[in-house]
Amino acid sequence: MLFLGWSVFPLVLLYWLENVIVGGFNGAAAEVRRRPHPLTPSPLRERGNKRCCSFSFGISSVVRRILLADADAFYVAVARAIDPEGAGRAPLLIVGGSRESRGVVCSASYETRAFGVRSAMPIARALRLCPDAMCVPVPMKECVKRSAEIRQLLHRFAPIVEGASIDEWYLDLTGTEGVYHHEPLAATAERIRGGVREATGLTLSIGGGTNKLIAKMAVARAKPDGVLIVEPGGEEAFVRSCTLAEIPLVGPKFQARLAARGLVTVEDVFLYDSATLRRTGGLSAREATWLWNRVHGVDEAGVAHREVNRGLSRDETFAKDLHEDEDIERELLRLVTRAAGDLRGGGLTARTVTVRLRDWDFRTRSAQRTMAEPVVSDRVILRVARELLVTLRKARRVPARLVGVRLSGLAAPQAEDQFAFFRGASPDETERDRGLAQAIDRVRGKFGQKSIVPGGIAEGEQR
Ligand SMILES: [Mg+2]
Repeated sequence: MLFLGWSVFPLVLLYWLENVIVGGFNGAAAEVRRRPHPLTPSPLRERGNKRCCSFSFGISSVVRRILLADADAFYVAVARAIDPEGAGRAPLLIVGGSRESRGVVCSASYETRAFGVRSAMPIARALRLCPDAMCVPVPMKECVKRSAEIRQLLHRFAPIVEGASIDEWYLDLTGTEGVYHHEPLAATAERIRGGVREATGLTLSIGGGTNKLIAKMAVARAKPDGVLIVEPGGEEAFVRSCTLAEIPLVGPKFQARLAARGLVTVEDVFLYDSATLRRTGGLSAREATWLWNRVHGVDEAGVAHREVNRGLSRDETFAKDLHEDEDIERELLRLVTRAAGDLRGGGLTARTVTVRLRDWDFRTRSAQRTMAEPVVSDRVILRVARELLVTLRKARRVPARLVGVRLSGLAAPQAEDQFAFFRGASPDETERDRGLAQAIDRVRGKFGQKSIVPGGIAEGEQR
């Protein structure tokens, strides 16, 4: 739409209002529309009146209404939902792996966070801080399923939904005032929360305002189980009530650089225009403009209608560091076999293979390759993954703590039959590879995952 320029934009917007808002997205928003409201006119009548027409004459008067819906302690909530008798009864809950594993915390319950437990912290350290916590593995499949469910529900409330991560979605409600009978945005946010809670049992927090930056900062304040809307015009005052650390992407390193120049609080930065920030803060022109926009609550980014292409990852943190190339390779083969099987099981193809290696000293390295054509077979994915592993090991041959593989650039080919589904795959990948992969899946479906394993794995297990 951007390419069309401002002159065409009002027409496009009008079309969107007519066809998407009023005629298109229905469900929950439509329920609001149908419900008689004593004070406001029906949006259907509004289509012909001034309020709607003002869009075409004064684009600058369009105030964006952006929400960020963020599921509260998502992984923890899902782990509790699928195991009500176990994890569901544990206030102190860590999701990420077993007590003995050397994994990291993926998410921790709010009660556990009070002990200082944070995501990405090694589980062993988290348990030193909170010894009574229960640890469970990440219920990834269920999380992906619930995430898709929430996304579906959000589509009933907003015409544009952008997945920002597995548990965060931006909603663009610009132009939907009439549909919602001009209720305050906070009331709409509560309506959305109620709808999702009722359908899934999961709670969302919602932040909102005139742009994505404000919505993101507001939701951090609203958590858990709350709503915070920053009214139009209130952006600067809101950001000024925050610390620099609360501004997204102003990380510890950037903060340290600013502090070295005497810029410690938002207020310190707020005083300067971007040229002065450049000189005083020792910033590049780009950094200075970026920072100025941030502290003034300015963010032009649009909400893009897209799903998060999460990719499919499998990794393994070893109980003991692995020293030998062949041992690491065997683990990689095991992971690739699982990932490729899941890829085909989901009716997907992948174009990019990434291999990740975490060394004994926690240094994490990765290598990836994107293929010209999508692939599905164990043989091709294994070959690429093996080559990537060799590259990584050549660069630094030290004991490894973790190895992982990620298949991304996922696509679900638009095809009726499986034969056509495989037809578009890589020239590296022969018909025979694809046929073999399908046959393997059939055997595994019947006799279990371990009924057929690649040679490398089998040899390792016989040793
Ligand atoms: Mg969350």
